[in-house]
Amino acid sequence: MKPKNKFQQQIVEASKALPELTKEQIQWGYDNAIQYVGRRTDKGIVTCTKCGHSWQGMEKLATTLLGCDCPNCKTKLIVKTSRKRVFDDSYYMTVIDAHRGYQVLRTIMLSYKTIVGKLPQYSYSEVMQRWIAPDGKHCTLARLRQTMGTMYCDSWIFYTPLELRSESTNNKYCLNVYDIIGTGEIYPKQKRIPELKRTGIKKRLFKQKPFDIYRILLADSRMETLLKTKQTKLFELFLNDKSRKIDNYWASIRICIRNGYTIKDAISWCDYIDLLRFFGKDLHNAKYVCSTDLKAEHDRYVIKKAKADALLEIEKQLAKEDEYRQAKAKFFGLMFSDGLINVRVLESVAEIITEGKMMHHCVGSYHSKPDSLILSACIDGKRIETIEISISQLKVIQSRGVCNKNTKYHKQIIALVENNIPLIEERLAA
Ligand SMILES: [Zn+2]
Repeated sequence: MKPKNKFQQQIVEASKALPELTKEQIQWGYDNAIQYVGRRTDKGIVTCTKCGHSWQGMEKLATTLLGCDCPNCKTKLIVKTSRKRVFDDSYYMTVIDAHRGYQVLRTIMLSYKTIVGKLPQYSYSEVMQRWIAPDGKHCTLARLRQTMGTMYCDSWIFYTPLELRSESTNNKYCLNVYDIIGTGEIYPKQKRIPELKRTGIKKRLFKQKPFDIYRILLADSRMETLLKTKQTKLFELFLNDKSRKIDNYWASIRICIRNGYTIKDAISWCDYIDLLRFFGKDLHNAKYVCSTDLKAEHDRYVIKKAKADALLEIEKQLAKEDEYRQAKAKFFGLMFSDGLINVRVLESVAEIITEGKMMHHCVGSYHSKPDSLILSACIDGKRIETIEISISQLKVIQSRGVCNKNTKYHKQIIALVENNIPLIEERLAA
C-alpha cells in the first residue's frame, strides 16, 4: 500500500536506510530461536538434528518426558521417537532496533531442514517490521501472506517485498493480524530510542510482546509513571486487561503514589476503587484509597454492594407489581368453573412467575404484556394449563400445560374460557 500520510512516508523513507540484519544476529537465531529435535529410533539411538551427533539414549518415557541435551553441541532437544528421516520447521525471532529516532521491531522467520545424521540447511527471511514513533504512533511493513486455503496467519510469501501494509481490523474477529504474529526469541543485544530508555523499561517485558509494551509506554506517560514509581502490579494489570481504563483510577493512583502506598493486589484495589465510587466516597482521600487493610475493606464493600443490589432488585420487583396491579386490577377476583376445572386470573407478578416456574414454560415474563391476561386452570388445586387471553380481541391466544405441552383437558379448558369471555367483557366495561 502507498503511504497515506506524512508519518507513513517518513517511515517508508527511513526503512530504506535500515541496515541489513547481521550474520551474527541470524546465527544467534539459528542457535537460540529454533527448537531442535532429538530423533530417537525404537532401539533408543538419539540423533541431534542440529549437529548430526548420535548416541545411545535412555529408555523412551524418560527421554520423551524430560527431553535431553546433545552431548556434542549441548543443544536442548525435544525427543521424538520416529522413523522419519527429514525434520523441518520454522521459528520466529525478533530484533529490537532503533533507527532515525524510531523504535523498530524486526521479526524474522528462521527455517531449518535436516536429513537425520547430516547438518541442517538453513534459511531466513525478515517478514515484518513494526515501527513506533516517540509518541507511540506506529505502522507496519511486512511481506504478503497466503490467506486463501490456510488457517494460519503466518504463511508468508517470501518473494514479496517488505512493504507498508494496511492494518485493518475490519475482519471476522476484529483482529489486527500483525498483532497476532509471534515474537519468538528476542535477540539479546537491543537498541532502544531515548524516549523508551527514559521510561526505565530495560529488557523486562511483563509477559507482553515488546511492540505492545513499547507502544503503550510511549503513548501514555501515565504508564511510564507507574513503572518509575514501582507500581508494577498496576502497570501489568493495565497492560493485560484492556477493559480496565486507567482514566477511571488515575486520580486515586496519584494519591497512592504521593503517600508512598504501593499496590500489591491490583485487581482487588481497582475493584475496591469502583466500589468506593459506587458509594460516593472521596476518591482523592488517602484514608480510603490507601487502605491499610485492603482485603478487609474490599470484602466489606463487596457485601455492602451485594445488599444494595438486592434492595434495588426488590424495589424493581415492587415497582413491577405496582404497574401490574394498576393495569390488571379490574380483572382480579375473576374465576369460573365447569364443576371439574377451575379457572382464575393470576393476581400478581409473583404469582405469574411462580406459575411459569412450576409449569416450565415462559409465561413468567408475560406480566409486562399490556394486552395479555393470564389465567390458571386447576383441578383440585393442581395446575393443569396456563391460559393467555388477548384483552383487546377477547379471545384465547394460547393455553399450555407443563413444558408447553397440551393436556387431555386442553379442549375442555379452552371451551370453558371461551364460554366465560362475557365475564371478562363485563369487567372491561366497568
Ligand atoms: Zn548436537
